[in-house]
Amino acid sequence: MASFPHARYKTIDLARLSSIGIGPVAEVFMIEEERYPDDGYLIGAANNILFGNDLPPLMKLSKRYDFIHIRDGLLHIGAATPGGKIVSFCKKHDIGGFEFLSRLPGTLGGMLKMNAGLKAYEIFNPLVALRTRHGWQIKETIPHAYRTTGIDEVVFEASFVMKNAFDTAKMAVFEKMRNNQPADPSAGSAFKNPPGDYAGRLIESVGLKGYRIGDMAFSGRHANFLVNLGRGTFDDAVSLLTLAQARVFNRYDIRLEREIIVVAKHY
Ligand SMILES: Cc1cc2nc3c(=O)[nH]c(=O)nc-3n(C[C@H](O)[C@H](O)[C@H](O)COP(=O)(O)OP(=O)(O)OC[C@H]3O[C@@H](n4cnc5c(N)ncnc54)[C@H](O)[C@@H]3O)c2cc1C
Repeated sequence: MASFPHARYKTIDLARLSSIGIGPVAEVFMIEEERYPDDGYLIGAANNILFGNDLPPLMKLSKRYDFIHIRDGLLHIGAATPGGKIVSFCKKHDIGGFEFLSRLPGTLGGMLKMNAGLKAYEIFNPLVALRTRHGWQIKETIPHAYRTTGIDEVVFEASFVMKNAFDTAKMAVFEKMRNNQPADPSAGSAFKNPPGDYAGRLIESVGLKGYRIGDMAFSGRHANFLVNLGRGTFDDAVSLLTLAQARVFNRYDIRLEREIIVVAKHY
């Protein structure tokens, strides 16, 4: 890689990194100084990604982007910072608005790209601005909606409003909701909820709740969670996703949109 003579690569077992437990071992380009190859696919903590066997070049932010500090009355957070660390910081400094990140797995960069959230709470709500290689961009200039944004660059850091006060009771409610989620390895919700409906309800109504191919299944506990029951494979996961989309479309004329991101060269 001629333009990156001092590039550092890390060998990462993606089956261990990804929350769904699927993927090969890969050499991942570590972003240290805000320069990165244009053809690299950026990964965060891989809580929303299903990796194929044949992958594009991957890259990841280094630990340098794992930080939180308060500056000029704003909260500045590095994009490699895990959500759990953000919640702990806010609790310690009595800052409100981030309670919903409790047990929402991922790093800030992944959460921003996905506009991650729970019910009415989304990471774009407290966002002020984010920084990419083109500089700072204020929230109002970035398209965003339910689980989608116009972010198409690596985010290095972001700033957020600081509100009083951390709400322990609210956090307890969010944590209780998490207890109803399947404990088996997954990548969170398989599909986005279509307007006015729930992906889980639709999957269940076409007979796929608990349906299994190999070691992959739509959870018997929550049909919109695609879970790995042991040695689940990429092919089995894709077969289930495709099957659910086909059945729901045939029955309801609704196109289920994947929330899980498939990262594979050929798919
Ligand atoms: C058990 C479980 C429960 C979950 N519950 C929820 C939930 O309640 N709500 C919810 O919204 N999600 C949920 N998820 C999904 C997941 O937690 C979120 O999508 C989270 O934001 C993923 O963060 P990540 O760092 O793992 O990103 P990854 O999965 O690694 O990447 C996701 C996307 O973000 C991009 N990305 C990563 N870092 C950056 C960056 N620095 N700059 C720009 N783009 C970047 C990647 O290219 C990719 O497109 C859940 C997942 C699991 C496993």
